[in-house]
Amino acid sequence: MMILLMFWRRLSFCLLSNSVDFRGTDYNIVLTENLGLPNLTNTCYINATLQALLTLKGFIDDIYRQKVVWENHFYSVGFKELLSIRHCQFQLDNEKRCSLRRFKDNFVMSFQDFDNDDQMDAPEFMLKWLYRLRESKDDFEIIASNLSICYLCPVDAQFSFDMVQTITCLRCGSKSSIVENFIIMTQTVKANTSLDKCLLDGLTEETVQRLCDCGFEESSQKHFFQSLPNVLVVQLTRFLFRNDKAVKDSGAVDFSQILEIPAKFCVNERKSVKYSLVSVVSHVGTSTKYGHYICDGVNSKQSQSSKSWLTYSDNNVKETSIQDVIKDRKSSAYLLFFERQNSPLILKSKSV
Ligand SMILES: [Zn+2]
Repeated sequence: MMILLMFWRRLSFCLLSNSVDFRGTDYNIVLTENLGLPNLTNTCYINATLQALLTLKGFIDDIYRQKVVWENHFYSVGFKELLSIRHCQFQLDNEKRCSLRRFKDNFVMSFQDFDNDDQMDAPEFMLKWLYRLRESKDDFEIIASNLSICYLCPVDAQFSFDMVQTITCLRCGSKSSIVENFIIMTQTVKANTSLDKCLLDGLTEETVQRLCDCGFEESSQKHFFQSLPNVLVVQLTRFLFRNDKAVKDSGAVDFSQILEIPAKFCVNERKSVKYSLVSVVSHVGTSTKYGHYICDGVNSKQSQSSKSWLTYSDNNVKETSIQDVIKDRKSSAYLLFFERQNSPLILKSKSV
C-alpha cells in the first residue's frame, strides 16, 4: 500500500509537472524529493557533476536559446542529453535511469576509458564533456549562418577565459608572453589557506629560473586574465602523484560565498570583479579509487530572495545552507562553481 501511495505521489507530480511553474514555492518539498539522480554503479561522479552544471542558469538558458541551431543536428547529443537529464529530474526512477544510461553510453562512445563501472574523476569527466560540446562549434556556426543568425557556443559563452603569462628577464628586460585559453582554473591546495589567497598567490609576480638569450638565468613571471568567464570553475588539486603513487590531498581550503578578483589582475576591467558561489562538487573519502561524489548547489527553483541550498547525493537530496556548505566542505571541495555578478557577457550571449 505504501509503495502504491509513493508511486501515485510521484506519478501525480509527473502529471502536474507539465503545467506547473517550478519556481513556485508550494512544490518545494516535492521538488527536493524528486531532484535526485540514481546511481548506475559508481556513477556518482557523473551525477554530482551534472547537478552542478544544472545549477548554472546562464549555461542552461544559453543552450535553450541556441536550440533552433542544434536541435536537428547529429552533434547536438550533448545538449539534448543534458536537457533530458534536467527534465527527467521530475520523472520516475526508471526514466531517470534510462536518461542517465543514454548519457553515459553516448559519452563512452567518445571516451572509451570511461567505459567501465569504476569511479572516475569528476573534473576529467566534465572537461571532456565540455570540450566535446565545444568541438561542434564550427558545424553549428555554419547552420546558424544558413539561418541568418549568430551562434555563440554555450561552453565558450559561460566558461571560456584567456590568461596571459608574461616572463621578463631580470637583467636585459627581454619580455615574452603566451596567451592560453581555459575553461577550468586549476588551483593547488595549500592547506589552511583561503581560496582567494591561493588564487591571488598564483597571479602575483614571482621570480623563476629561466635562461634568457643574454645568459641570465632569472626572470620575473606573472599571470593575469585577458578575459574573464561568466562561470569561473575552480578545480582544487585533490589527487596527486607522490613517489609514483596516487594520493588524495584533504587539506582544508577556506572559501566563502563571494570570490573577488582585483582589477589589477584583469586586462579590460576597471573595477574588481565579483563572483558568487553557486555549486560545489566534493569528493568524500580518503582514497583516490573509492569514496563518493556529492554536489551542493543553490536551489534555483526558489525565488532570488529566498534561496536555500541543496545537497545532492545521488538519489538523496536534502536542504542545506551556504553556511553549512562553507563549513563542511573545506577538506572535500573539488570543483567550485562561481557565477559572475552583473555579467556583461550575458547580453553578448543573446545573439540568437
Ligand atoms: Zn636577458
